[in-house]
Amino acid sequence: MLEPFFIGQSAIGPGESRVIQMPLGSFPSGALVEVPIHVSRSADPGPIVLLMAGLHGDEINGVEILRRVLESGLNVPNIGSTITIPLLNAFGFIHSTRDAVQSKDVNRSFPGSANGSMASRMAHLINRSILPLIDVGIDLHTGGASRYNYPQIRAELNRWNNLELAKAFAAPFSIQAPLRPGSLRQAAKQLKKSILVYEGGESQRFDETSISEGYQGIHRFLSYLGMANNPPAQQKNLHFLKSMSWIRSPMSGLFQSFVEAGQWIHKKQTLGVVTDIHGMTRQLIVAKKEGFIIGLNCNPVVHLGDALINLGTEE
Ligand SMILES: [Zn+2]
Repeated sequence: MLEPFFIGQSAIGPGESRVIQMPLGSFPSGALVEVPIHVSRSADPGPIVLLMAGLHGDEINGVEILRRVLESGLNVPNIGSTITIPLLNAFGFIHSTRDAVQSKDVNRSFPGSANGSMASRMAHLINRSILPLIDVGIDLHTGGASRYNYPQIRAELNRWNNLELAKAFAAPFSIQAPLRPGSLRQAAKQLKKSILVYEGGESQRFDETSISEGYQGIHRFLSYLGMANNPPAQQKNLHFLKSMSWIRSPMSGLFQSFVEAGQWIHKKQTLGVVTDIHGMTRQLIVAKKEGFIIGLNCNPVVHLGDALINLGTEE
């Protein structure tokens, strides 16, 4: 017999679906800051899955992906439970910023504190009230700072069954990604829970390819776990990459790319050019090794050393 589980003071029983508003404090205006959490439980036992977006407030593709998940009812599981958080960081969302109050990055604030900054309280809410409940989660992101990420899963693919889970999601790329201190993934690892990060598109812009890849990936993922039916077909060519590194700008000026995100490039291929504004100087960007372009800077105005092209490699 399944027991209810608790989020804050709210008990959610088997077969129940509800939206819980978790309080985080208030704005200086006095308006309450709350995180909406959609919980949907089957009467039958199974995995408990977290689907979360908007940890970085301006990364809105994920918010739209989960809006479609909720609209279509994909979050209502055949077995087990889903916990869907379409927007963690409402402050960043309404200000079109990545961070929460006082420029604090929620994804560097884990495990967080109940009495800390807003970012720290957001992290604490997830760490204390959500992570202990779940078996596995998907955290939806985009590139930041005008960088476009081709749809990809990032995880420790060499740990637990993460590789199998990434294969189930079947994003075009799945990439071995080291943990960052203070991140959700690191906090989850402490509790022995798997979090896969989905990256698609760039901040403050909708990208239909990334939105639809993310939605379909979640559908396949939930189907793999027995929680959904009729998973969409996956692409034939999925790539599993062992590392990624940025090619950086050799000078300050204007960057033009000759390549596209998702594309395979070979060693010594010319990838783009950085020029000055006077028509005097140009420096070509030439690949030192082969790989896939998993991320691309979309802002032509670059400083010396700025990240231009993120290259994912199979070794
Ligand atoms: Zn992000």
